[in-house]
Formats: sequence, C-alpha cells, structure tokens
Amino acid sequence: MAKKNKKFIFVVGGVMSGVGKGITASSVGKLIQSRGFNVTAIKIDPYINVDAGTMNPTEHGEVFVLKDGDETDQDMGNYERFLGTTLTRTNYMTTGRVYQTVIERERNGEYKGKCVEVVPHIPLEIIDRIETAAEKADADVSVIEIGGTIGEYQNILFLEAARMMKTKYPEDVLFVLVSYVPMPSKVGEMKTKPTQYASRTLNGAGIQADIIVARSDIKLDEKRKEKISLSCSVKKENVISAPDVESVYHVPVNFEKDGLSDILLKELNLKSKTKDLTEWTKFANKITRAKKTLKIGVVGKYFSSGDFVLSDAYISVIEAVKHACYYNGCKPEIDWLDSSEYEKDPKKLKDLKNYAGIVVPGGFGSRGIEGKIKVAEFCRENKVPYFGLCYGMQIAVVEYARNVLKLEDAHTVEMKANAKNKIIDIMPEQKKKLENKDFGGSMRLGSYPAVIAKKTIAFKTYKETEVSERHRHRYEVNPEFVEKLEEAGLVFSGKSPNGELMEIMELPMSVHPFYLATQFHPEFQSAPLSPHPLFISFVKAAKKLSE
Ligand code: GLN
Repeated sequence: MAKKNKKFIFVVGGVMSGVGKGITASSVGKLIQSRGFNVTAIKIDPYINVDAGTMNPTEHGEVFVLKDGDETDQDMGNYERFLGTTLTRTNYMTTGRVYQTVIERERNGEYKGKCVEVVPHIPLEIIDRIETAAEKADADVSVIEIGGTIGEYQNILFLEAARMMKTKYPEDVLFVLVSYVPMPSKVGEMKTKPTQYASRTLNGAGIQADIIVARSDIKLDEKRKEKISLSCSVKKENVISAPDVESVYHVPVNFEKDGLSDILLKELNLKSKTKDLTEWTKFANKITRAKKTLKIGVVGKYFSSGDFVLSDAYISVIEAVKHACYYNGCKPEIDWLDSSEYEKDPKKLKDLKNYAGIVVPGGFGSRGIEGKIKVAEFCRENKVPYFGLCYGMQIAVVEYARNVLKLEDAHTVEMKANAKNKIIDIMPEQKKKLENKDFGGSMRLGSYPAVIAKKTIAFKTYKETEVSERHRHRYEVNPEFVEKLEEAGLVFSGKSPNGELMEIMELPMSVHPFYLATQFHPEFQSAPLSPHPLFISFVKAAKKLSE
C-alpha cells in the first residue's frame, strides 16, 4: 500500500456531469505542481468498456490517445495539457479493465483458493492501480478523478476504494467535491440544495468532502458559501467559488485567487517548496489580451446530439488551434461545418472562402466523406489554408489522385473495398485484425517516429529531421501510388523511418500558402505552454492571409 509521503486527492462530481470536473482535477494538479511537487493524474471511468476506443465520439467525446497507444477518455488530454506531462495507460482505468485483471488473476490462481468477491477484491485492485500509477510517475501527489456523478451505481466500487484508502491513510487522502449551484432564471437566486444533497450522497458512501468546488454561472456570494459550509460540514474557506470563465485556462488562476493551493497544502499537511504560477498566468493573460479573431472552420461529422451541437469529439483539435492562436497573438472563432452539407449542396463550398483556415480532423466511416473530399478540393484550388489530420490527410490524397492525377474511381478502401484505384489501402497487419473481428485497441496506435524531408514546410516547422507523433488508424497511403503522386506535385514530407508509410503530405509553398496534412494526430501533443509547431505554422499562414 501507499509509500510514505505519497498523497492522493480524489475529485468527485455531484449534481450533474459536464460542469468541469476534469478541468477542476487538472487545475488542482496544476496548483500543487506550482508549489514544487511532482503531480500525476489518474482517470477512472465507470463503464464496462476496457478502453474508450470503441465508443461513438458523438456520444462519448474524443478518444484521447496516449504516447503508449492507450485509447482513453478526453480528460486525459486535459491532464496532459495542464500538467505538461506525458501519462501512460497505468493512469487510466475503467470498470472493464479492473474486472478483467481480477478475473485473470483468479484464473491464474493468484488468489490462492480464496473466494474472490466484489468487495474487497475489486476495490483492492482499484487501490493497487492507483498506487502503481503514483509509484510509476514518482508522484508526490496523485489527483484521481472518478468519472460520472456520485450516486450512480457504477461508481460505487470506486468510491469504496477511495473510502478504504482514506481509512488506511487518513492524513494522505483528500476529497474534492465538484458541485453545481444553479440559478434558475425565474427564482432569481442561487440554490445550494442540490449541493447539499450531493454532499449527503457522498456521506452515504462513507466519505466526507474536504473541499467543495461550487460551479456556477456567476461568483458565489458569502451567504451561499456559509450555507454550503454549514450544511456540508466543510470549512467556509474550503468552499471554492468556480464561476464560468472566459477560458478553461483561467481556472487555475482563478482558483489561486481564492487561495486554493494554500488550502490544498494545508489539508494535505505539505510544506510548500515554491510558489510559481507565473508562466501559466502569463499565458492566461495572453488569452484575455488577444484581440484579433481568426475564423477557423472545422469540417467534421461528430457534432450533433439531438437538437444540440457539441464539439467534444474534437476537443484536442480545438485546444491545439487555440494554443497556436494565442501563441500568434489572436483568438480563434471556430465554426463547426458538417461535411455532409457539402454533399447536399456543393454551392455552400464557396463559403469556405470566409475562413482564414480549414481543419479536417480524424474520422471513420462513410458518412460525409464525399463532402470532405470536396472541401479538400476547394481549399486546394482556392488557396484556402488547409490542415488535415489523419482522415483529413487520407481524403486529401484521394482528392489529389482523382482531380490532379485523373485516376478514375480513386478511393480509400475503408469506403470502397473494390475501388479501381485503391489510393488509401488497409495496412497489411490490420487486415487480419478486421477479419478476426479484433476491433478493441487494435489500430496502429501511439507514438511512432517520422523522418522529415528537408526543404519542406514540415522541416521549416519542426526544424528537426526526426519527430515522434501519436497515431490512430488502420489505413495508409498505398505505397504503389506514392511515386505517381510525387511526380504530380504532391510532397510527402514525412515518412516512417523505413520510407514505407506516408506520415505527412504537403503542397509546396510556391503552389499553395498552406496545404498540409498528417497521418498522425499532432493535436494530442499540443499544450498551452508548448503549442504544436504544425498548428503554429497553420495559424501563422491563416493569419497572414487574412491580414
Ligand atoms: N479511418 C481512417 C483510418 O482508420 C482514419 C482514422 C482517423 O482519422 N483517426 O485509417
């Protein structure tokens, strides 16, 4: 169990989801980091899925890919961006993953004849995973976010694990409850009752919150703070007001205004080593100062949820665009463009000229693909800056083959298995996996190196001949067509070290101001304090053209 000096902060949610538990967990981590401690973050997702890879992005949001290839929840992206660290699969668990291990252990005879029970064996496995992650990351403090909201059946065992840890290490475990304080327009005041119920539900699991982060539209007044403090048995100064802010990156700065890092350290009995949030604060100020807006269009299909438009499926792309914009002294105004609209009404394509730049992010399946291909064609012909990511590269290559090389029936086999010209083909090792219905965690995943060709936009951008980027795909540019495409003017400026896999394609600057696409996902490695170079170049080109 826990080694000396290791601390654990559990972040749990009450009232409803989607109020910023992930950002709170990330910000709490950031603040502790700013006091000189090594921090790691762990995400617990209560669903049965072994990982997030098989889930529909419209419903579940983005699948965030770690360096080691694990397909995880989008919150892992928030942790990496806020903490500036690289996490591993040890930092992510689901109910499926926990049960899988316990069942495997039972089959291997590791429980030595014992009756293996839901309690305590499942919580013990959870604790073991948390401690292993802390150990591996050599973390002084681990922030553990329990997905969903308290009171849901599915996270009971995770709360039980947290309670057991607190019992065993009363000095080293802290609970932060992220709650929501609504202000119904007809009522005209903030209501704290939902938070009171949430706190009691947590008590029902044997856990007392140490800190309550109260999310709301506007700042919490003293009266509401007192009410929450009294009814939830939390010190008044530990009730933190978290009103809506201009950007999620302002949250740590705002928390600090309420003295949260002092509170956290006091509750954890830790002595501060330093106090330095300067770089982060500077970055947050940059956001506030950025005046010029840059219109960026993101062409995708995972947007609509009933009557609502959500952008969670592309969160890392959006954040990477933001990082690069702030870096370039502007702020993005992002529009979600549904690719199938361009299939229904190609006249709409001309509206793309209203954008400083277009991003076509990753995707799967057939819906909207012809629309995306049309977008790539329009951007190429009309010199609109184009940045394609994964699928966004595959469709750009298909477009080039169709319209420049004039290859009839050029397509990706993902869409048309019997296409005459299979420009994008299944990777050989992937073919078997699909035949065997081996879908989970089986794509080409995680970090792989790419060799960058000199005298290209990619090289000018990276200023390096070898880079490492994260992947998530089954298909690739068919090597049989590479020579023909190159002869026709397409530049493959990044390739796998053996030269077989096309990692980056671009058009020379003499032909187009910025037409570049990657087989990998650069968005997964962009952070506020270190924006991704390719996003910086894209935004720079877009900004220059719109001046
Ligand atoms: N569907 C494509 C593939 O599997 C692209 C994947 C993606 O965009 N992440 O290769």
